Amino acid sequence: MSETADVLVVGGGPVGGTLALGLAGSGLRVQVLEARSQPETGADPRAIALSEGSRIILQRLGVWENLAPHATAIRTIHITQKKRFGRTVLRSEEMGRTELGYVVGFAELAASIDARLQAVGIEVMRGAQANSLQPGNDGCRVGYEKNGSEHTVEASLAVVADGGRSLDSVPGLSRNIREYGQSAVVAMVQAEQAHGGVAYERFTSNGPVALLPWGVRGFALVWTVAPEAAERLVALNETDFLQELHAHFGDRVGHFTSVSGRAAYPLKLARMQPNTAPHLAVIGNAAQTLHPVAGQGFNLGLRDAWELANVIRSYSPQELGGDKMLAEYVATRRPDTEGGMFFTDFLVRTFSNDWPALGHVRGAALAALDLCNPARQFVVRKMSLGAKG
Ligand SMILES: Cc1cc2nc3c(=O)[nH]c(=O)nc-3n(C[C@H](O)[C@H](O)[C@H](O)COP(=O)(O)OP(=O)(O)OC[C@H]3O[C@@H](n4cnc5c(N)ncnc54)[C@H](O)[C@@H]3O)c2cc1C
Repeated sequence: MSETADVLVVGGGPVGGTLALGLAGSGLRVQVLEARSQPETGADPRAIALSEGSRIILQRLGVWENLAPHATAIRTIHITQKKRFGRTVLRSEEMGRTELGYVVGFAELAASIDARLQAVGIEVMRGAQANSLQPGNDGCRVGYEKNGSEHTVEASLAVVADGGRSLDSVPGLSRNIREYGQSAVVAMVQAEQAHGGVAYERFTSNGPVALLPWGVRGFALVWTVAPEAAERLVALNETDFLQELHAHFGDRVGHFTSVSGRAAYPLKLARMQPNTAPHLAVIGNAAQTLHPVAGQGFNLGLRDAWELANVIRSYSPQELGGDKMLAEYVATRRPDTEGGMFFTDFLVRTFSNDWPALGHVRGAALAALDLCNPARQFVVRKMSLGAKG
């Protein structure tokens, strides 16, 4: 016999978990399927830059309280391009804020969301791998496997938040993918000088390199390179790696003294279109996967989850997954999603090449931005709050 749910969330990662939290206390029967049998333990070394808008959402959901002790504040963002003139510095005090954003470990973020789900009594079914989706006129039928046996759930609304990892063939939906031909090498590095809350973004012809403040003297590194170079950098001994990073990044924080947790991620731009089918919606990385250059991916996914929870709450259980409800969700999210994707892709394309003429235009744009406070405020607002900023 099949199980039933008002809302079935496929994927208990940070975005799926946030959606479930957004539905806590709604009276709806919410079920979360998570393929991994154990909670995130720290195996994923990436750090996530959270915008102020995301912090507010996490606070409203009761997650921030647990996460705040693990967060490092970003007070200044320093943007330059290698071997070219032009730079922009965004400072929190100029924006009338104490922080521009925060850096948190992926593992701490996931653990804080999990702890909150437990506290509000939402169960995440672990070791449950969804393997089929059948959107239909009366609901969505989801098949999953747990402990070697097959199960089905009839859901009024199924929400796919699987990170785009597994359920590629959703009837009626297709995913457009553009490989960037780049990989991100992530690591934690320590430097001679304390970071002072400064995040560095340096554009080079191979791709951007970002150093996000971490702890007291540390940085979370996101270094974009060609895939072959990523493999080589991950395999290098510590001394050679730190020397190459110093040569590439320059001397702004002195020499780098140690590195840990190196890993490489292939980068692509992917978008599910459309992102809804009858009684089914796709959110987070499953709906759009972005280059990490502007640190927008999770922030965008979090807003997907938050807005979808709000839309769901405004409909009766009988109306869930219907055309009207889904159309409202799509209309609410479109400007933010398209803006975030365009902005990120524009940065990658414009700043990751060696055309001399473009180098001058980029330099002039960075210098102009540095001189124009309202323009800087506009950029920060959009990065913090998305289209509603
Ligand atoms: C190097 C790097 C740096 C980044 N930096 C930033 C940043 O600074 N700021 C930012 O905002 N974003 C950043 N991102 C993007 C961010 O990591 C993602 O947007 C975010 O993790 C997406 O969350 P998600 O919940 O949608 O997907 P995921 O984190 O992939 O979670 C999906 C979950 O679904 C589960 N699952 C998968 N398939 C199934 C199935 N069939 N059944 C059940 N469960 C399933 C998985 O086990 C997983 O737990 C970065 C990404 C990379 C690669």
